[in-house]
Amino acid sequence: MISIQNVRKSFGDLEVLKGISLDVNKGEVLSIIGGSGSGKSTLLYCINAIETIQSGKIIVDDIDVHNPSTNQDKLRQKLGMVFQQWNSFPHLTVLENAALAPRIVKGLSKDEALSIAEKELIHVGLGDKFDMYPTKMSGGQQQRLAIARALAMKPDYMLFDEITSALDPELVGEVLDTLRMLREDGMTMICVTHEIAFARDVSDNVAFFNQGVIEEMGTPDQVINNPQKETTRKFLSKVL
Ligand code: ADP
Ligand code: MG
Repeated sequence: MISIQNVRKSFGDLEVLKGISLDVNKGEVLSIIGGSGSGKSTLLYCINAIETIQSGKIIVDDIDVHNPSTNQDKLRQKLGMVFQQWNSFPHLTVLENAALAPRIVKGLSKDEALSIAEKELIHVGLGDKFDMYPTKMSGGQQQRLAIARALAMKPDYMLFDEITSALDPELVGEVLDTLRMLREDGMTMICVTHEIAFARDVSDNVAFFNQGVIEEMGTPDQVINNPQKETTRKFLSKVL
């Protein structure tokens, strides 16, 4: 599981996470919603140790993420991450993109890496795009490639940071469907998202972030359908 315990994070004088605590159990989906600048991305970066923290603790399975003796390579192999902007290599084909990390980071043979990459590409519906270059694909296909690339590392958890925010509206559905499929597979996920209907449908829990604190957290029914706080209601009325 991922356990976040009273985490504080500052950039200089600006405290952006003000004591965040939450747990995500194996097989669960947590959606994080909230306004711009509320600390959502920063929390994801703290989970995979791209950012340090000032105090508190983040535990991923048996790994204390911010303990100086932690093996960060081992940690990051547990955590797949996909960002808003597609980030594949333009000079490599779709298949080469998906096979790259297993080959370089995990040291698999070329054949092993290709075989895993093929499987994951087929899984996200890109089975007919192996030889294409990513720049020729739609934004939705590029995001599905990014997901396949992450999955090819066989992570235990997936972290998604607004992966549909840069897409044309008609391409959002295919990417959300891919996330729904991962959920069916039993993948444990944290999804930072503005897609409230998606969060309501697929999440076990929803956390509403506001200025570095969790204002409200609970089931989608609690947080989205029956928010208790005025700040939550206001945010939802703007995005629903
Ligand atoms: P969100 O993802 O919810 O929009 P972020 O986590 O990106 O919010 O940012 C939270 C706050 O931290 C914002 O005020 C942002 O400007 C600030 N911030 C984020 N990253 C940095 C950084 N590397 N240096 C300084 N300030 C940062
Ligand atoms: Mg963000």
